[in-house]
Amino acid sequence: SLRQDYAPLDIVIPDQLFDRTRHREPEYTFFGGGLVAHVSFADPFCLNLNAILYQAARTVGATAHNGGTLVVIEGPAFSTKAESRINRQLGCDLVGMTAIPEAKLAREAEMGYAAIAMVTDYDAWHETHDVVTADMVVQNLLKNAETGKQILRAALPIADAQLHDCVCLHALENAIVTNPAVIPPATRAKLDLLVGKYLPLT
Ligand SMILES: [Zn+2]
Repeated sequence: SLRQDYAPLDIVIPDQLFDRTRHREPEYTFFGGGLVAHVSFADPFCLNLNAILYQAARTVGATAHNGGTLVVIEGPAFSTKAESRINRQLGCDLVGMTAIPEAKLAREAEMGYAAIAMVTDYDAWHETHDVVTADMVVQNLLKNAETGKQILRAALPIADAQLHDCVCLHALENAIVTNPAVIPPATRAKLDLLVGKYLPLT
């Protein structure tokens, strides 16, 4: 956590991402190879799923916060004190090492994506808390694991009943820039699962 009121063992449903990773495998996009597509990533999480997860977290009695900006660092080392302070000054609320590139790939694959963030520690910025160690993270994660399962058990039936359509499921509708006529056949074939419904057969 990068803020006092998002305390260890709290649950946060983040609604924004700030990508400070460098280069990860797999790639950050399915596209390329002669097919250019730019998806909207202004809201990187599925806000409909977020609302359901937050509601579920409250239902199971977790101390939950709805929204927050998650800065994703490259890792695997934790942040320096300077990085931690600067991430706070930039307006980030949480720091972690996951959600990139999977949030981008999920959007390109038109899948709704959301995260249940479990606060384990106060990173390295806090004056009166010990700086984060792997031991601290694992201990608090284990404490929170059961809460996480309860949230999923409560959320999935709600999502199943209420969430039938969403902008996430149409993310590629206006994203493909390349003229379909000039997309290399091999690229088109490789990406058919994602783009086939948007590209008229030539
Ligand atoms: Zn969605």
